[in-house]
Amino acid sequence: MRIDLHTHSLASDGTVAPADLMTAASAAGLDVIGLTDHDTTAGWAAAAAALPTGLTLVRGAEFSTYVTVPRSIVSVHLLAYLFDPLDPVIVREQERLRAERLQRGLQMVELMMADGLPITQEQVLAIAAGAPVGRPHIGRALVESGVVASVDEAFDGYLAGRGSYYVPKLDIELLPAVRMIVAAGGAPVVAHPRGRGEGRALTPELIAELAAAGLVGLEVDHLDHDDADRAELRGIAAELGLVVTGSSDFHGTNKKVQLGANLTDPAALEVLVARTSGVTPLVTA
Ligand code: AMP
Ligand code: FE
Ligand code: FE
Ligand code: ZN
Repeated sequence: MRIDLHTHSLASDGTVAPADLMTAASAAGLDVIGLTDHDTTAGWAAAAAALPTGLTLVRGAEFSTYVTVPRSIVSVHLLAYLFDPLDPVIVREQERLRAERLQRGLQMVELMMADGLPITQEQVLAIAAGAPVGRPHIGRALVESGVVASVDEAFDGYLAGRGSYYVPKLDIELLPAVRMIVAAGGAPVVAHPRGRGEGRALTPELIAELAAAGLVGLEVDHLDHDDADRAELRGIAAELGLVVTGSSDFHGTNKKVQLGANLTDPAALEVLVARTSGVTPLVTA
């Protein structure tokens, strides 16, 4: 069984339409794919309608959250699986997060334009095409206008979190986000806990607190994690009875990683699904 539980489509900051992503997943030899667009469930219906025979779709989303640590606020991504997409608290929070993304994206473009970079807000909005605005959309505008050669290159400079054009957005706090997802029947899993943005903010103590609030798992096998990160996170997960997941975090051509680059154990998915009551996993006949 090849299970990839974290991917992005054109419904957020990927470059492949949800329906085409399902076809690509099948062609990549996956048996199960998790669709986890940022702050939206807009891709679920098209993906479900286009499922090739034998492929199971796990509907999910990735929430942008934050934790406060001494002297700074750290961004933490939280995956949510099989929650009720009509849960009013989730619906309202995703709307708020998307509004934050729009405002913040436009502000970043404004700063770049003021510095003479040849991109426009209209251009970025056209690229996002209604999806929650993310830095990759600005990156594609920078590529389109010949400022950089790739989205990767844009992230190394113009879009960098410590760069002069970076504008923060007001995300949801991590612990309440875990509770919100559990209340909507979903399974929360911390995405890339030792990723570039997260660093060491997620201490074993904090993860234990999240587990007590209903956190189901940790995404351990992810391209941002080295062997030491993975070993450490596996240890924490074992101690707290958390599920370990693995995934590609596929973003189409916005990132180099390919579908199935990291995988989740079938037993882990079984435990994860058993902890949910929002929507059932779905497979074509
Ligand atoms: P934002 O959510 O707007 O702060 O933008 C960060 C998002 O860009 C993260 O979810 C990353 O997964 C995504 N991303 C896409 N392509 C890249 C890239 N080449 N380098 C870094 N992050 C990327
Ligand atoms: Fe992304
Ligand atoms: Fe992420
Ligand atoms: Zn992601």
